Parts: sequence; C-alpha cells; structure tokens
Amino acid sequence: MRFHVLTLFPEMIEGIVNTSITGRAIKNGYMSVETVNIRDYSTKKTMRVDDYPYGGGAGMVMEPEPVYQAVSAIEDKIGKKPRVVYLTPQAEVLNQTKVEELAAEEDLVLLCGHYEGIDDRVLQEVVTDYVSIGDYVLTGGELGAAVLIDAVSRFVPGVLSNEESSQFESMQDNLLEYPQYTRPEEWHGTKVPPVLLSGDHTKIDTWRYEQSVIRTRERRPDLLRNSYHVLCVTYGDEG
Ligand code: SAM
Repeated sequence: MRFHVLTLFPEMIEGIVNTSITGRAIKNGYMSVETVNIRDYSTKKTMRVDDYPYGGGAGMVMEPEPVYQAVSAIEDKIGKKPRVVYLTPQAEVLNQTKVEELAAEEDLVLLCGHYEGIDDRVLQEVVTDYVSIGDYVLTGGELGAAVLIDAVSRFVPGVLSNEESSQFESMQDNLLEYPQYTRPEEWHGTKVPPVLLSGDHTKIDTWRYEQSVIRTRERRPDLLRNSYHVLCVTYGDEG
C-alpha cells in the first residue's frame, strides 16, 4: 500500500510513520509513505501557498492551484486517479469500518490543511473522502493523516507480526476488547481473574466475550445500540 501525504510540514509525518511498527513495515517494503510538500507547487516567488480569505475574517486560506498541481503530479506518477482524503473537522469521525474500507486501496492520497483550511473549489474538484479524527479542531491535518496511516496500516498484509495481530481487537463486531493481564499473577493486591489461569479455552472465550460486552456497555454504550450482544450477556442461554 502506498500513502501519499500532501502537507506543508513533511517532517511531522515522517517523524511519526518512520517509527515503531509502521517504520518497520516501510523498511521491509510492506507499505510506503511519500510526503509531498505543497509549497513545492507554489505559484509565487516567495513560495507562499496561502492568501487572505475573500469576504474578510481572521486567518489565511490555502490557495487552490498548488494543491491541484500536487495532486495532479501524484496522478501522473502512479498513472491513475487515487482516492484523495481530506483531513478536516467538517466530516464524520474516522471509525474502524472506514479504516478497513480505505485499507483496500493500493494508493491513498492524504491532504492536510493548515491555517483556516483550503480553498473550497479545489476540494470540490479533487477530494473523494472527507475524514475527521475527532470533534475538535487541530492546527493542521498532519496528526490526522498520521492517525489514519497507523490505523489503515494494521490491515496491510505483513505489517503486523503474528504476535501483534490479535484475534480480537476493540471495535471488532462493535465491541471493546476485554481486559488484558500479564505477569505477575498478583499485583498491588489484585489477582488475575482465575479463569485466565484455568487452561480451559472455552471458558476463557466466554469470559472474554462477557467482559467485552460489560466494558462496552460501561464505556461506549452507543456502540451497543440495537446490538444482540447485550441480550446474550444479560439473559445468557435463556436469551
Ligand atoms: N477553519 C477550519 C474549520 O473551522 O473547519 C479549521 C481549520 S484547522 C485550524 C486547519 C486544518 O487542520 C484543517 O484544514 C484540517 O486539515 C486540519 N484539522 C483540524 N481539525 C481536524 C480534525 N478534527 N480532523 C482532521 N483534520 C483536522
């Protein structure tokens, strides 16, 4: 999978993605992250890519032409029109379903805005997907792009080792993951739940499933709306 990140601050992306699991995946050739500095496509001698907003108001707006040229250069390079994701607070918040959907792409362009954002005309022309990483406003789209790359990369074959790819993860089937424990068996007076030491994998699976439902009900009840999980755990076999 190839990510192409259009940004005014390539070093922000590079610093994050070249570290840890994504860094290893890039090194081993399972994915690549190319950063493109939008400033390289500036039409001005000063290399500026922002200007005052029409209609007045605070802040600057990124001009359409450098963004358009940067996207066109990627299209020319890869020989097709890839999906172009604009990171913006004006969108639905990224979730696991969207992450899995994007992971099916061979190429993904991630467009990071700055200042007051990007001239809407170029967004209308090049953007295929609008994605927010949360209902708050960031100073730029780079952290959003890094979040998206990290989440999507987990679905790219080869990126996670066997130990890293859990059979169950939070959000799978709209449930949060059950609590996890490691050594020591007793820590600060609290023992690991005995079922986990029983060696009975049917019982362990049942316990984990119930804990997932309980945890989801406590922390993210919105995920369980219209869900059959609650019934299963509330009424057990009788349900
Ligand atoms: N004026 C814009 C508005 O009110 O919608 C906010 C611009 S914000 C200061 C600058 C850039 O940060 C945006 O163009 C976008 O790329 C990025 N950004 C801000 N919040 C974000 C979020 N929650 N998710 C993803 N990207 C975000």
